Amino acid sequence: MSVRPIKRISVLGATGSVGLSTLDLVRRNSHKFKVVSLTAYSKVEELSALAIEFNAELAVIGDEKKLDALKERLAGTGIEVAAGEAGLIEAAEREAEIVMAAIVGAAGLRPTMSAVRRGATVALANKECLVCAGDLLMEEVRVHGATLLPVDSEHNAIYQVFEVERASSVERVILTASGGPFRGRSYESLKAVTPAEAIAHPNWDMGAKISVDSATMMNKGLEVIEAYHLFPIKKSQIEVVVHPQSVVHSMVEYSDGSVLAQLGSPDMRTPIAYSLAWPERMEAPVKRLSFTEIGALTFEEVDLEAFRCLALAREAMEAGGAAPAILNAANEVAVAAFLSEKLRFIDIPSVVSDTLAICDIKAPQSLSNVFEIDKIARAAAQNQLALRAI
Ligand code: NDP
Ligand code: MG
Repeated sequence: MSVRPIKRISVLGATGSVGLSTLDLVRRNSHKFKVVSLTAYSKVEELSALAIEFNAELAVIGDEKKLDALKERLAGTGIEVAAGEAGLIEAAEREAEIVMAAIVGAAGLRPTMSAVRRGATVALANKECLVCAGDLLMEEVRVHGATLLPVDSEHNAIYQVFEVERASSVERVILTASGGPFRGRSYESLKAVTPAEAIAHPNWDMGAKISVDSATMMNKGLEVIEAYHLFPIKKSQIEVVVHPQSVVHSMVEYSDGSVLAQLGSPDMRTPIAYSLAWPERMEAPVKRLSFTEIGALTFEEVDLEAFRCLALAREAMEAGGAAPAILNAANEVAVAAFLSEKLRFIDIPSVVSDTLAICDIKAPQSLSNVFEIDKIARAAAQNQLALRAI
């Protein structure tokens, strides 16, 4: 029997929801993995505890002001430390077969690109990367022979059932959406919702930003754009259907009428395990589905009036060029303002749409171009916030 070599793995965004689920699987399969780099933005205590537990080679803190605290905590352990964007890039560049890209937001773009450029296998959770710079990122994947494994549950589901050799026979890709905590609510009733209500997702346990995105359904909009970049399909072939049970994670329909779906419990450890073990499979300690317990799987149309963000994301995808990057930047600004109670929930789409209306959507030609667009869009969105401050 052949013994499988140990896989070297780096986790960018190790202290987040996806990062911790990844490390949970690594902990349970410690004989299969060697942890190389771990990163966080500001949680020094959590990062140093993880670095010690997993005997990482390098621990990186995004916030440079926290470097001394990190050094102090890791003194005498032999674990190297670094900080800031340069440190995050170093973490991604360290020799490791798999890089879990689980930083939240556009901040994850440069480190993810660095991992892609050394031809690594990148388990991609950070959807904002593809939304801001999908064309550039996919081109780099091709040029450097990197492997991109989608971790987002919908895209991981599609990846599992999409027959790439028969892409021309694919008629539709159907993304499922839980509908979030406000499914069925009218626009009027969403005026007074609080951050605590918005991040209380009915099925998934996720970070704050993506939880708010799920509540506005911007998350599904970002995922439509993500699917467009990841799979050889046309924009018009991507559909969204609300599926409150979050059991069918997405579907692909073929020309003979067959629809292939991937099902599972709503637990990110399934798509993460798929990505860590690829091209094999590994055990994940997730609740097994009991179809008799579930009873019924239901599907509904999206209410695009109450959840305007999904329509805005589609419009940005159709407009192309810089529009998705602007959409993403404005959304990040608006969500942060909502979380700090400076913006109403229903004003998130207004900030996004007004920012899109005033920014130039000329397509970015380089990564630095993407960052310029991101910066301009963030400043424009900040001005929009000022007009709507609570
Ligand atoms: P979390 O907010 O839980 O974690 C984010 C991680 O990124 C943390 O480690 C955080 O560090 C770090 N981070 C935050 N800001 C920066 C920054 N500016 N520079 C460097 N690092 C930073 O997010 P999630 O785990 O929920 O999501 C991560 C990504 O995966 C997102 O893009 C999300 O859309 C995507 N995703 C998440 C899913 C989920 O179930 N959670 C499902 C599908 C996709 P610190 O802890 O120190 O702040
Ligand atoms: Mg998803």
